[in-house]
Amino acid sequence: MKKILVTGGAGFIGSHLCERLLAAGHDVLCVDNYFTGTKKNIQHLFSNPMFELMRHDVTFPLYVEVSRIFNLACPASPVHYQFDPVQTTKTSVHGAINMLGLAKRVKARILQASTSEVYGDPEVHPQPEEYWGRVNPIGIRSCYDEGKRCAETLFFDYYRQHNTDIKVIRIFNTYGPRMHPNDGRVVSNFIVQALRGEDITIYGSGSQTRSFCYVDDLVEGMLRMMDTETGFTGPINLGNPGEFTMLQLAEQVLTLVGSKSKLAFHPLPQDDPRQRKPVISLAKSKLDWEPKVALEDGLKETIAYFRKALT
Ligand code: NAD
Ligand code: UDP
Ligand code: UDP
Repeated sequence: MKKILVTGGAGFIGSHLCERLLAAGHDVLCVDNYFTGTKKNIQHLFSNPMFELMRHDVTFPLYVEVSRIFNLACPASPVHYQFDPVQTTKTSVHGAINMLGLAKRVKARILQASTSEVYGDPEVHPQPEEYWGRVNPIGIRSCYDEGKRCAETLFFDYYRQHNTDIKVIRIFNTYGPRMHPNDGRVVSNFIVQALRGEDITIYGSGSQTRSFCYVDDLVEGMLRMMDTETGFTGPINLGNPGEFTMLQLAEQVLTLVGSKSKLAFHPLPQDDPRQRKPVISLAKSKLDWEPKVALEDGLKETIAYFRKALT
């Protein structure tokens, strides 16, 4: 049994991670400022004596005693991370410094939830870990992309300079139950719109692609990465290599919901990546991991969740 800190633990991915860690018998400290997360996501864990919840903003120092840290605190959807962009960069950068300072002091292993956004709007397709990316440093997505890139830099400098035991994962678009219904991400938007019979909002022509990973698959990959030997730092891509256009996603959601919603085309947001798909050969060989849940099955679970959540 380990004492494990999960920052951003009341969020979408964090809540699933806390659940899995408790099920494995660990002592879990969940830290969150509830910017995009909610107590509802973890309410079912309150009765477990091994679960502890703390309201805290990671841009401020945190003094606790733990042996492992999963650093997930950061708004993840464009609508939320662009709401207060300065705070987004602070959360990634000051948050990383504080959590790395903590890891250094207590000699904890620390895993950073980085993102496929470090590849920006990529000219290399699909994206392997060796690709350095193509990121606009001054655009509206930069607070998130550059914040996450700087956090990766900090992780590798703490590793080189202080021998901190780091792990860096690059998460590709992940979806599933407990996504925030209003967070503006494509899977939650399309499902909510289809369930309500509202127009499906396609940004641009809908020909841009993404690769969607079901949350249970992602969490399994995160846990396996955390358990790798010291010195295996990553970065490692975690995502589902199945690639879909937004039009294909819309069609699939409409069919599964049985909805008659119409497609409505809106302007493409600035710097929106045209394509995204992970190379996962490193995760396959090092973690013996690959996603198991097909998009159709994951969408069914997510639709069932939203059907309940919206009533
Ligand atoms: P989310 O918004 O549901 O979760 C983020 C959590 O962090 C929320 O609970 C939020 O309240 C909390 N938080 C934000 N700022 C904070 C701060 N300053 N101090 C403390 N807590 C703070 O998003 P998610 O999808 O669960 O993402 C979790 C992590 O995974 C994020 O770091 C995100 O960048 C990364 N990620 C997610 C995806 C994805 O597709 N979901 C893809 C790539 C990377
Ligand atoms: N820090 C923290 N918790 C700890 C130890 C450090 O939040 O248990 C913070 C501390 O406030 C500092 C940051 O982490 O700002 C970086 O710590 P480090 O020791 O690397 O740097 P220094 O304190 O020398 O600036
Ligand atoms: N998107 C869309 N309609 C929506 C929300 C998003 O067409 O209602 C598009 C968006 O422009 C992007 C893709 O779907 O091309 C994925 O968007 P999301 O915000 O989910 O993730 P990210 O762009 O961060 O990968």
